[in-house]
Amino acid sequence: MAAMDKEIMEQYKGVYVFAQQVDNELSGIAFELLGKAKDLAADLNADVTAVLIGSGVKGLVDQLAEYGADKVIVVDDPELKDYRTEPYTHALASVINEYKPEIVLVGATAIGRDLGPRVSARVETGLTADCTVLEIGDFPLNPIPGKEQKHNQLLMTRPAFGGNTIATIACPDNRPQMATVRPGVMQKIAPVAGAKAEVIEYNPGFTPDNKYVEIMEIVKNVADTVDIMDAKILVSGGRGVGSPENFKILEDLAEAIGGTVSCSRAVVDSGWKPKDLQVGQTGKTVRPNVYFAIGISGAIQHVAGMEESDIIIAINKDEDAPIFDVADYGVVGDLNKIVPMLTAKIKDA
Ligand code: FAD
Repeated sequence: MAAMDKEIMEQYKGVYVFAQQVDNELSGIAFELLGKAKDLAADLNADVTAVLIGSGVKGLVDQLAEYGADKVIVVDDPELKDYRTEPYTHALASVINEYKPEIVLVGATAIGRDLGPRVSARVETGLTADCTVLEIGDFPLNPIPGKEQKHNQLLMTRPAFGGNTIATIACPDNRPQMATVRPGVMQKIAPVAGAKAEVIEYNPGFTPDNKYVEIMEIVKNVADTVDIMDAKILVSGGRGVGSPENFKILEDLAEAIGGTVSCSRAVVDSGWKPKDLQVGQTGKTVRPNVYFAIGISGAIQHVAGMEESDIIIAINKDEDAPIFDVADYGVVGDLNKIVPMLTAKIKDA
């Protein structure tokens, strides 16, 4: 990837967000990215633009404005009804080539992980995947003799080497600077009722080349439980729970307090619970009001997904377990005794 000319780079302005929608409903990540984009745009004295791609999606524009978009670029075409890699890549890459944003944020969802890298390759720039922190600053972070330190760069931070280190990455020689961002990490702003955005309708045109894939049928996964990312109370179990059957004591506690059961990766790897209940670096990032960590040691990869919870309560028989370093309240003891006692007390209250 060749470095861009400085004059060309200076044409790139504004912070753009891919406003993911499914079935004409905006995904939570769209609001989270808008919240972060507002912070970045304030530092750059720039606007926030949402890019809304779909079919019959214009009705979503006001919602994007209420959550922080100054402008909304709408690419509306029957070809874009359901997500397909090639038409969406063509649409977003065309918007970037036409409007030249300085920063483009995409959610690290199943759709965003497919779309982001293809778009970055198409527009010949870099992409940092699965970011957990984004800020504007100098790069390199500290001056290096003989090397120019560039200002107002997007500093993109993400776990690296299996979560054992945190890497801060920049894209100082190309534009746009692109990142995919983990769902659940950024904070959406409180909506401003009645806020309006400038709306730009853009038609990139579709050719037969953009129709490699035809969708025959969409089979939806019908969940009978709350998504752990939306739960206010999580009762999370680890390997210490001992067996899939013994999760019953966590389910009883969850039921008593109106919570939802989640788990560590060790539990998923053992086949005790499905992957969509996994909290952590390779699972979901959660931010509930209360997080119970029961029989979970507190490995860095687990903590990365739950440390932003408002209140963390750990139950573990090992008083030196690292989970106690991040817990607000800790109980040292056997979960098989403590959890049923707690459930009984809550039921009596
Ligand atoms: P353990 O580490 O085995 O801990 C079990 C705990 O239960 C111990 O602290 C023990 O003292 C306690 N215990 C046992 N019996 C009882 C009892 N009767 N009463 C009370 N306490 C008891 N992990 C995740 O969770 N999420 C991730 O997304 C994730 N991603 C990863 C990505 C990479 C690249 C790698 C390398 C690892 C990842 N891991 C992840 C795995 C992580 O490193 C740990 O191995 C995992 O979190 C351990 O799960 P655990 O705490 O349930 O099990």
